[in-house]
Amino acid sequence: MMHFLFNDLVRSVFYNKSNECAGRISMGEQIKIYCHKVRKIIIMSFLMMLFCTLTAQAATIKNIRLGQQGSQGYRIVFDADTKFSYKTFLLNEPRRLVVDAYDINVSSEVEKHQDKMGWVTRIRVGTPDSGTKRIALDLKTPVIIKKAFMLAPQSKFGWRFVVDVISVTEREFNAHIGSKYAFDSHQGTAKNVDSKKTALQSPSKAKKIIVIDPGHGGKDPGAIGYSGIYEKTITLAMAKELKAMLDKEGRYTVYLTRSTDIFIPLRDRVKIARKYNADLFMSIHADSAANRNAKGLSVYTLSETASDKEAEALAERENKADVIGGLNLLEHSKEVTDILINLAQRETMNRSSEFAGFMVQEMKKSVKLVDNTHRFAGFAVLKAPDVPSVLLEMGYLSNRTEENQLKQPAYRKKLAASTTKAIKKYFDNMRHASVF
Ligand SMILES: [Zn+2]
Repeated sequence: MMHFLFNDLVRSVFYNKSNECAGRISMGEQIKIYCHKVRKIIIMSFLMMLFCTLTAQAATIKNIRLGQQGSQGYRIVFDADTKFSYKTFLLNEPRRLVVDAYDINVSSEVEKHQDKMGWVTRIRVGTPDSGTKRIALDLKTPVIIKKAFMLAPQSKFGWRFVVDVISVTEREFNAHIGSKYAFDSHQGTAKNVDSKKTALQSPSKAKKIIVIDPGHGGKDPGAIGYSGIYEKTITLAMAKELKAMLDKEGRYTVYLTRSTDIFIPLRDRVKIARKYNADLFMSIHADSAANRNAKGLSVYTLSETASDKEAEALAERENKADVIGGLNLLEHSKEVTDILINLAQRETMNRSSEFAGFMVQEMKKSVKLVDNTHRFAGFAVLKAPDVPSVLLEMGYLSNRTEENQLKQPAYRKKLAASTTKAIKKYFDNMRHASVF
């Protein structure tokens, strides 16, 4: 396009047709023609300048960062000066993770990067065709790609392309080799038309991990209902029903923090979510109030002030690198560490709020809600900095009607069905949001 425009301009400036067959031209008209030529020359020079600038500042992937995420996950971050189209998948012999980046340069810094954690043994950059850069990460241990997405500039960070992977067995790795399991940006360029087909299959390949936390348990009965039922019993029943329903969907791996009547400290529940590298954590409770008329369902996410304090405490804890996905905090100073934890937590809180929104949307179709259904509070159980978390208060056990409802499996199934819908919406929405 630019090329045509350019040629046209050159032709019209140097071989002006109107001039060739002009015959007698008045002075006024001659001036007009010259003005026209001058204007064209100015436009042409401007276009040339623009072209040179664009060439000089060609989009580049500037560097790569490798970090741990959870106990068995890793995050790969590519810093770039613009967003770009991509495709990422696994290959064998040697075992490697491949990122094909389209219409972008790759700085030599990427190849030079040494992985201190040792799960990437070597990084190589190649050019399979003129518009494609291929970055291959040779893997020491087998992993599969959990998600890949582009992050818009935020604070001091520019564009980031993020690939989250998770350690798996050799067998699982082998089952995920090839572009059939690719994650790509759906950008309709000619180069990855082929991968567009496979993109539709890819999200289902990486199952989302959900951890459901039945509140209380063991020595802690939780609230005691109107007729004497314990909250811990209702929450466990609900958690099991929800897990069964989510399992049926086939796109989630669901864990419970407890599947029997045992006591688990709040901190440990958060740890469980992080251990499983959860994409979503949901703690289930049923409220109680002195006012026996109080009723309705509510959804809680962590409040901002509480989370800042938590971020501070987390920063002080010994294993900082483990706290936050993808960023090796040991490399950074305390201030930077605080900022990074803060950012991760803010993103997590946004996601939690987003999910809470979907919960309210779905729940209001079938059950009674409290006013301002989505609420914020400093629940310890919601404080994983890197796992979107919500706490569901299913209703008031102190209310005779609601206690009775919550005791019915049919009612709990209704709640589980709405929750399942909300979870589906949340992940579908996230997939669209993370693709450019
Ligand atoms: Zn509770």
